[in-house]
Amino acid sequence: MNMKPDFLDAAGIQADESTIRLLEKAEAACRMQFEKIAETRLFNQAKILRAFREQHVSYAHLQGSTGYGYGDIGRDTLERVFAQVLGTEEAIVRPQVMSGTHALALAFSGMLRPGQKLVYISGKPYDTLEEVIGIRDSEGSLAEYGVLYGQVDLLSDGSFDKDGICAALRDPTVHVAAIQRSRGYAWRPSLTVESINDVIAFVRSIRPDVKVLVDNCYGEFVEKEEPRADILVGSLIKNPGGGIAPTGGYIAGTKDCVERVSYRLSAPGLGREIGSYVAGYSPFYQGLFLAPRTVADSLRVAVLASHLFADLGYDVLPEPQEPIRADIIQSIRFSSADRLVAFCQGVQAGAPIDAFVTPEPWEMPGYEHCVIMAAGTFVQGSSIEMSADAPLCEPYIAYLQGALTYDHGKLALVVALEELRKKNLLHI
Ligand SMILES: *Cc1c(COP(=O)(O)O)cnc(C)c1O
Repeated sequence: MNMKPDFLDAAGIQADESTIRLLEKAEAACRMQFEKIAETRLFNQAKILRAFREQHVSYAHLQGSTGYGYGDIGRDTLERVFAQVLGTEEAIVRPQVMSGTHALALAFSGMLRPGQKLVYISGKPYDTLEEVIGIRDSEGSLAEYGVLYGQVDLLSDGSFDKDGICAALRDPTVHVAAIQRSRGYAWRPSLTVESINDVIAFVRSIRPDVKVLVDNCYGEFVEKEEPRADILVGSLIKNPGGGIAPTGGYIAGTKDCVERVSYRLSAPGLGREIGSYVAGYSPFYQGLFLAPRTVADSLRVAVLASHLFADLGYDVLPEPQEPIRADIIQSIRFSSADRLVAFCQGVQAGAPIDAFVTPEPWEMPGYEHCVIMAAGTFVQGSSIEMSADAPLCEPYIAYLQGALTYDHGKLALVVALEELRKKNLLHI
């Protein structure tokens, strides 16, 4: 019985019979993982509901403020809700934090003083941070202010190099150890909360004075708990904004660390006391509330894509049956620029916004290689919405992430497969 599903007709998508069979087979193979994702979603929704109830969130908190924003209860309550959900003492959660990179730059410059050293213990950090830190020369970097940098790479199996970390921590100037939970643009597994907590305990056993920072981007609500770091940093146009927050970032952690960072956020002496947002906080509360569902749907799309492209013979990471995912990203190795570009263009063609435009590789600020980005999103650059991006370099890996709904992700994947087929790049 080869019935063409009517949803493809409804979408006006012409899909080949073989694509439909591939999709049905892949979807059937996802069942077990989908159940586990649903369990985590419920747990995180429960945790978030509890925080809203215990922090007495009310209608008044959804409203904005003006000017200095003294006594802005919407802002302050949002920060308490985030702190409770993330399991930290305090949090900065602001629309004035412009991106994940900005949040990380604030955190580092708040934590580090001239002559002190930052050590990344999960290998090379995300591309945009190279200029923040000064790994690549750049004006205004931490290096210009006399902050030192060191790095301990992960071992070849993707685990932490404890001997290397131990050696690096012997340097008394080390003040912050940083861990990136997600893979960034690297072919490596993301780090599980368990492995991060384990290495945090290890760092503390050697150097209790060193602060551990976790770049939590793409990781929030993928597992039941967040890492137990001194500082957690993330973006609101990724997971914790639920696809609803229009902008913003967070820096959460111990009272002491958050306070230090707050003096970079605004100014010394002012800290978190100021900062208004006239448009109101409703989308930040609502986005956080919806985040477990958005993250779960993103994960389901990632799992589906993993099955689909593994079936087509591509290398994928995580692999289809990987039991633990630590972030929402699905990497697909296309091994040719043609296929990579066609895939990203297909994801764009399957988007609700700007489906009719064709993305091309370009020199994006902050990135070393040309990058192609499929981002047909409601919020510009949002990557909790379905998006795919890739640096144009060997071995031509696409990083796929997000989806506001599973159904959209599934439809967009069909469009992407058909885009490859049209260009004669798909062989089922
Ligand atoms: C996205 C991301 C960043 C930077 O966030 P932007 O909002 O793009 O500036 C930093 N680290 C990781 C791991 C990320 O995924």
